[in-house]
Amino acid sequence: MEKDTILYVIKKSEEYLKNQGIESPRLDAEVLLADMLGLERIRLYTNFDKKLNEAEKDAYRKRIKDRVTFKPIAYITNKKDFYHSTFYVDQNVLIPRPETEELIEWVLKELEKDKSYKILDLGAGSGCIGISLKKEFPDLEVVLSDISQEALDIARNNTDSILGNEVTGVSFLQSDLFNDFPPELKFDRIVSNPPYIPEDEKKDIMPDVVDFEPHQALFLSDPETFFTKMLETAKDFLKQEGIFYMETHTKWATRISELGEKFGYTNMEIKKDISGKNRMVKLCYG
Ligand code: GLN
Repeated sequence: MEKDTILYVIKKSEEYLKNQGIESPRLDAEVLLADMLGLERIRLYTNFDKKLNEAEKDAYRKRIKDRVTFKPIAYITNKKDFYHSTFYVDQNVLIPRPETEELIEWVLKELEKDKSYKILDLGAGSGCIGISLKKEFPDLEVVLSDISQEALDIARNNTDSILGNEVTGVSFLQSDLFNDFPPELKFDRIVSNPPYIPEDEKKDIMPDVVDFEPHQALFLSDPETFFTKMLETAKDFLKQEGIFYMETHTKWATRISELGEKFGYTNMEIKKDISGKNRMVKLCYG
């Protein structure tokens, strides 16, 4: 096999990744190369004999080295496909997960076409929830909030790149939960994928996640206090007949719905994700 061709570097990288314990070495080698060359992965196959130049080889080597540290592909390529869009991601934000697409489906299914809604994406991270909802329902008014200014900057860039920088009805708010919300803000829907992994599960989490994704977006030291505060305060920002949809850990779903009852929410509903786990909670207000 001739040196430096696409086929050659893929094979070499596959071998190397495999020896370093990466689970899907061939796929990763191909995805990282295709993205770097700006090609669809399938196009690699029709270009197997093409040679990489020095700069390309260096850049690719760097990507493979990164992957060996278990850095997630999405942080190496700075991209993640989610719902109907591709989001920019880096280590300041969580990589959007397929479970969250299920949460979006649930919310969308319960919106009426001819109504106008004001929606909060609480703890927006990359903005994947709020932006995806707005893309489906362009008339929505969406507020994206996050404790992290770095995350909000990313959410703003994703808004521009996905919805266009002329888009109206999207705003950003830096706040730890609702602490810095103007009291007059009221929403028809609050949608959130808050941190929910208990600290004591940290040791069981894969290095791809625990070594690279923002811990603030993942882990909770005191879930009871966190969810109590979240639900107790959320009421002040929901309109009459407003609805709060939340993704959570299967461990907390029942507790969240009990807390909902305590704070005067009604019609609590728990939904299973595609793997049959209780992972989403809906709470109605008023
Ligand atoms: N809303 C973002 C997501 O679903 C970020 C969530 C978070 O940071 N916990 O990916």
